[in-house]
Amino acid sequence: QVAEWKKLRDQNTLSKDGMHVELAANIGTPGDVIGVLDNGGEGVGLYRTEFLYMGRDKLPSEEVQYNAYKAVLEKMEGKPVVVRTLDIGGDKELPYMDLPKEMNPFLGFRAIRLCLDQQDIFRVQLRALLRASVYGNLRIMFPMIATLNEFREAKAVLLDEKEKLQAANIAVSEDIQLGIMVEIPSTAVLADQFAKEVDFFSIGTNDLIQYTMAADRMNERVSYLYQPYNPAILRLVKMVIDAAHHEGRWVGMCGEMAGDATAIPLLLGLGLDEFSMSASSILPARSQISKLNASEMKELAGKALNLGTAEEVVALVHAIQS
Ligand code: PEP
Ligand code: MG
Repeated sequence: QVAEWKKLRDQNTLSKDGMHVELAANIGTPGDVIGVLDNGGEGVGLYRTEFLYMGRDKLPSEEVQYNAYKAVLEKMEGKPVVVRTLDIGGDKELPYMDLPKEMNPFLGFRAIRLCLDQQDIFRVQLRALLRASVYGNLRIMFPMIATLNEFREAKAVLLDEKEKLQAANIAVSEDIQLGIMVEIPSTAVLADQFAKEVDFFSIGTNDLIQYTMAADRMNERVSYLYQPYNPAILRLVKMVIDAAHHEGRWVGMCGEMAGDATAIPLLLGLGLDEFSMSASSILPARSQISKLNASEMKELAGKALNLGTAEEVVALVHAIQS
């Protein structure tokens, strides 16, 4: 089996009936890129930049960030790299920022909410990204977008920084795709409106599941409610994919679900374009997809959407796998 995966490393990801999907990797540091390439990743689908901000005693400078983003883009040699802007707050704290304690950190002042409020921090990151953009295929993604106004505001800040750099004769790529994470139910429900304005979506199921099921992703006592295969989740995923495709946009998924062997047949059937997962899951996923017919998975997903429980969905998928 290991030999088969090695062979798969340099191949595109194709279903049995020839449909191409992209398998990308989630990374946290430039050092992770080597593992992405070793495992045949077709891109980076999620670069969690918060690790640059954690484990130090002050905010990372523009230069520190620029060097990290440039390193990742260069090492990926033109393959797409989706960089997520700062997603701090919730469970991820920054000791040096001294943010007030909140009753419900996961529903609180975090990610894009914090960045739009403390724009000096946000602008430093955007400048570093824009300056690094000429070294590869950069895509920028905003986390925790709940409203269209948040996206428009964040985009305006990005364009403002871009204009300032260009006015100072600093080179910036003209081909930076701009997308959002879909990890809040309001955004999934309103995906048709977002799809008119974004270049892509990446579905963050880790949070989308917790917000849809109202079950804390860290709380063991309610983990039985944290259900990736609940038809409610599948329907939200379908809404997002259909809305994006209607506007000619692509959709990825960068939550854990994207690399899950039980979810993959369903996601393929729903028409997901890009699957982003830990690097070690890429070759097993490529192997699995090569044995699946996308047209049959479309039928399977159609059936799953009309079931009532997560257990029924799992039974349906396992029936085709045995
Ligand atoms: C997600 O929410 O699915 C996601 C990928 O982001 P994180 O796990 O960093 O919250
Ligand atoms: Mg998230």
